[in-house]
Amino acid sequence: MVSPESQPQSDSTARPQDTPLAIEARDIHVTYDDGTEAVRGVDLRIAEGEFFGFLGPNGAGKTTTIRTLVTLLHPTEGEVRINGYDTTTESQRVRESIGYMAQETSIDLELTPRENLQVACRMYGVPREERDERIAELLDLVELGDVADKRAETFSGGMQKRLDTATVLVHQPPVVFLDEPTTGLDPEARLRVWDYFERINDRGTTVFLTTQYLEEADQLCDRLAVLEDGQIIADGTPDSLKAAVGTDTLRVELAQPTATRKRRAIETLQSDGALDGASIEATSNGFAIHAADARAAATTVFRTLVDADIAVAGFDVDSPTLDDVFLSLTGEADDDGSETPDVTALSPAEVAR
Ligand code: ADP
Repeated sequence: MVSPESQPQSDSTARPQDTPLAIEARDIHVTYDDGTEAVRGVDLRIAEGEFFGFLGPNGAGKTTTIRTLVTLLHPTEGEVRINGYDTTTESQRVRESIGYMAQETSIDLELTPRENLQVACRMYGVPREERDERIAELLDLVELGDVADKRAETFSGGMQKRLDTATVLVHQPPVVFLDEPTTGLDPEARLRVWDYFERINDRGTTVFLTTQYLEEADQLCDRLAVLEDGQIIADGTPDSLKAAVGTDTLRVELAQPTATRKRRAIETLQSDGALDGASIEATSNGFAIHAADARAAATTVFRTLVDADIAVAGFDVDSPTLDDVFLSLTGEADDDGSETPDVTALSPAEVAR
């Protein structure tokens, strides 16, 4: 794992050590014919049953990596084993034991869901006598039973994605690879697709997901790796990555947020001594406290302010999000559209005034 010392290290408790590996990549490099080094030394060890997220800014090498894992590209250097099979020397075995959903949908819109699944069954060699039952079960799982015999061209983006995922599951693969499966879906459709991915994982299927939506990774994944410039720069559980970037922030809004009152509140809290180690700054309507556990600090803060006769109008607590993790690691915001709250800090001179 390529991990600068300042970055979060892998959380060894996240992956059960005695569970067999579904995906193992050892120091893989992928260089395209034009010399682009898209993947530069990636290691992955993903246990059976894990829901693993692969994040990174555009151009980081996510698609190149996933295409290498599913045998569509061969590593220039290094070795990949999927379900124990080598992707270079046993690629057919690998293909039979995985489902791969590419970014572009592979369903035939002229056909119905049932017909699409029949085609997939034939392609993956599902025994004839098992097909009807398998198809009925999958239609049920993705909630397309009611429209099983309608042409897919009339379907919403979310319905098409659900059908697409169902087609990669007809041969009941133990591992599925999903390359940005929810890009372009509206938020409601995305939630339904998430629910479906969770159900697949609950059935024991290992899921490898690339996504540009950090909230998606946070909701779904047991463990994540962040890729940049073809190298993994951090990995761990969503919580361990968040804990590594920073502290909680408790924002307190004062009833009368004049500079004098803000200063008095801050001085009172600083002299109280109970908030040692926390930094406090003035904001436009009160002040903000940065502490390892701002929720626990809240009781002390409110008691101290009440004792000092300083009225509080409101408060909220922010914990670091995966957006903060991503920003601190890659220096790029994701495309989630989520915003960090606006804190207008006064300069020390203003506070002192
Ligand atoms: P991501 O999926 O994270 O956006 P990609 O794996 O698509 O990243 O791309 C990684 C790098 O490899 C980028 O610099 C991209 O321009 C380059 N790249 C991707 N496909 C090819 C290709 N077929 N030939 C040459 N360079 C490529």
